[in-house]
Amino acid sequence: MVILTLIYYTNPVIMSSNMKDIHPQYYPSAKVKCACGNKWTTGSTLPEINTGICDKCHPFYTGQDKILDTQGRVDRFKKRLEKSRGKARKK
Ligand SMILES: [Zn+2]
Repeated sequence: MVILTLIYYTNPVIMSSNMKDIHPQYYPSAKVKCACGNKWTTGSTLPEINTGICDKCHPFYTGQDKILDTQGRVDRFKKRLEKSRGKARKK
């Protein structure tokens, strides 16, 4: 949606051909709901926004590590790390 809006407003052909009524309805206190239950208001062209992730529940902000390790890559890396450490100590 954001990318489409950007393309629309930065395209000179669209802009020159239709300068009238180019501004969408703006909602200064649009309601945003996250899947985790967090709610806040923001300025938007949509009256209501539903999002799947926010700063209250994203692992980057919560500090919780959630590594999706489907192929055992993390374990293999740790084993290799241990191996190389063992070698370094022997020398
Ligand atoms: Zn959230």
